[in-house]
Amino acid sequence: MNQVAAALELINRALRSKGARLVAVSKYQTDERVMMAYDAGQRIFAENRVQELLAKKARFPSDCEWHFIGHLQSNKVRMLLPAVGLIHSVDSETLLEQINRESQRLGIVTRVLLQVHIAQEAHKFGLKAEEVLPLLNRCANGEFVGTRVGGLMGMASLCEDERQIGKEFSGLSALFSDAKDLYGARLADFKELSMGMSGDYPIALQYGSTMIRLGSGVFQPDDAQQ
Ligand SMILES: *Cc1c(COP(=O)(O)O)cnc(C)c1O
Repeated sequence: MNQVAAALELINRALRSKGARLVAVSKYQTDERVMMAYDAGQRIFAENRVQELLAKKARFPSDCEWHFIGHLQSNKVRMLLPAVGLIHSVDSETLLEQINRESQRLGIVTRVLLQVHIAQEAHKFGLKAEEVLPLLNRCANGEFVGTRVGGLMGMASLCEDERQIGKEFSGLSALFSDAKDLYGARLADFKELSMGMSGDYPIALQYGSTMIRLGSGVFQPDDAQQ
């Protein structure tokens, strides 16, 4: 068994008991490695650049689902929408409005997650926690019929402090529960909590993550263990 297949087997075993799914982050990886993951059964992949997502989608088998996880510039929205299975990174109200408008123009419904800023670092994108419920209220009132809001996404601080990371994931998880209580009946698809990367996914799973996004942990498992 190749390294990528072995890494996937271990990760999937850990996920099965948690009911969470793996999104394999294929950015910067060679086609050969991505294909190893495909051959091992992985079907959900993610990219953080629109051009790269479109190029990989064209090169790989059509039963792959391509997710977008990067900051989405407004001039790339129209190009991305027909190709993408889920956008994890809707980080502003204006971006959601634009995705909605373009989706309606294309006659499609785009699945999205709202990205919430939970890290201490100032440079990371995302909605402020206090902006999330008012925006979901607009969604629940039917203002965004071109989108289906599937849940929340967040990235913890890039640090070694497990307590800090746990605090951030736990805060996002609480916001997710509140949102489900308030709007779950009207937003039937609101059930995903995308949190956890290679360095912190065991902590994210403890706090109820339903989707972990792993790059190096899948494709460079040896480096990740060092
Ligand atoms: C790159 C990236 C990941 C994967 O990071 P790894 O540390 O390689 O697992 C996950 N989420 C986002 C938003 C990313 O940009």
